[in-house]
Formats: sequence, structure tokens, C-alpha cells
Amino acid sequence: MLSEGYESLSLQKIKKFEFDGVTIKIQYNPGRIHSTSAKVDEQSIADRKCFLCNENRPLEQKAIQYKKDYLIICNPFPILPEHFTIPNVNHSPQRINNSFGMMLSLSKALSKYYNVFYNGPTCGASAPDHLHFQSGTRNFFPIENELSFLKNEFGTTLTEDIGLRVTGIDDRLRKFILIEGKKDRDVQYGFETFYKVFKMISKGNEEPMMNIVSTYKEKKGWKVILYMRSKHRPDCYYKEGKEKILHSPASTDLSGICVLPREEDFDKITKDDIVKIFHEVSLGKEAFEFMKSGLERRLND
Ligand SMILES: [Zn+2]
Repeated sequence: MLSEGYESLSLQKIKKFEFDGVTIKIQYNPGRIHSTSAKVDEQSIADRKCFLCNENRPLEQKAIQYKKDYLIICNPFPILPEHFTIPNVNHSPQRINNSFGMMLSLSKALSKYYNVFYNGPTCGASAPDHLHFQSGTRNFFPIENELSFLKNEFGTTLTEDIGLRVTGIDDRLRKFILIEGKKDRDVQYGFETFYKVFKMISKGNEEPMMNIVSTYKEKKGWKVILYMRSKHRPDCYYKEGKEKILHSPASTDLSGICVLPREEDFDKITKDDIVKIFHEVSLGKEAFEFMKSGLERRLND
């Protein structure tokens, strides 16, 4: 499975779109078809065997244990040159509020070569019923190299003190909050505040819709990108015929690697489609203003 997955990745086709200082790469990757088209409604989830539970994983799939509760395993359907899935050892729902600290710990431990990312239960995770992170090759996502530019060009500083810097960024494609800090408790505090404010404008009982990418550098600390979502999948996902584009955006896509498992979509997708899809699934303008002012007020109290 794994060698087929990497074979598929090696045959990938790439095309590149440039926006004002933002690079979006389109990756044709047929190996991702199951993940992109995964049915994640409650009934479909209840009807299938969880592929992240130990007893259902292939016997050949080795794991590296991380701390007490996590396993690092190879993702047999890679998007990045090296791509791992990091499931919890227990079958418990995909939720970030009690596991964000673990995400920070993982991204520090893996930081020499890898980043760590998280997809919310209705934001691209194909196992919304089993808590897991993903990890992959550092600096493969275009946004990792664009952050300083995006911050200067499109950022509003919401708080800046010795330990913690929080910035709201709208680069006209995406709206996200960037948390930077050297101590994990400062970064955690930034995240908890973000979560509280986001919860106020989120519907439903599940967590606010988000994708997260975390990187860590010695001396500089963590950079955590929080993409806020308004929608799971864009309209074009559900269309038929020529109008259909099978694209289910998650952390990788919003970070500049848009994965399309169908060649016809890869061939026809345009810059305008990307703008439309990104705007559709991202938080709206008004909600983003609310997030920024709410965060600014609470963080500077
Ligand atoms: Zn499971």
C-alpha cells in the first residue's frame, strides 16, 4: 500500500498559480481519491471499521510510540514527500481543545524535519471519530516560507508582548490567525483565547471549524496557523458533469498544496476556481472582524 502510495505521488503532476505573494500549487494525486471522497456523515462512519484503530491497521504497519498515547505511522496515501499520521491509541473523537498541548509537543519533537497539522472533524479529517494529527516534510507547504511576508503585507497585530505575538491575516485568499511564542504555556493561552472567541460565533456542538498547521524552530519557538472555516466542502464538490471539481480542502490545501485526485479537475481548474473555493470554505469578512477584535480585547486585558 505504502509503495503504491509513493508511486502515485511520484507520478503526480503539479501546476502553480501565483497570487499577490501567495503561491498555490495544484497537485494531481490519484492516490487520494478515497480520502477526498470519504463519506464522513455519522451513519457512514458508524458503518465502517475505523482504519486508525490498532486492531484494524495492516499488520505490516509499524509504529513509533510517542509519549503514552500516540503512535507515529506512515500515511499510505502521501501528499508530502514524507507524510505521517499520528493517531491516539484510543478510539475517541477528533477534538483539539484538550489535545492542542500535545500538538505543540509533537511539533517541537519532530521539528528538525517535519511540521504537524490537524484537520477538524468536519474540515477534511477522514477519520472524524478517531483523534489524530498528521505530520510531514517541513517547508513543503508554500505558506511556511511566505509567513513573514504575509504578516507584514496583510497582517494586523492583535497582541505583542515578550512571550506571545498574535496576528490576524487576510491575504485575500485565506483568513487566518497566527500565534507565535517561545513558551508552550504562552502559545496555549493564545490558542485557548482563540478557541473561546471562535466558539461564540460557531454553530453546533462540535468544535469550531478549523485547520491548524504548527511548526517549531529552536530559538524562535512555535508558529501556529489557525485557518477558520465556514464550510466543509465547496459547492463544486457536489456538482455533476463539467461543473464538478472534486476538491475537499484541508490543512494542506489551505497551506498551498491543493490536492486533486481526478486528472480532469487538475486539467481544467483555474485561478478563479481557487479564489472561489477558498472564499467559500473560509470564514466570512464580518466573522473575521469579530475574531480579531474579540482576540485583541481579551489578549490585552
Ligand atoms: Zn478508531
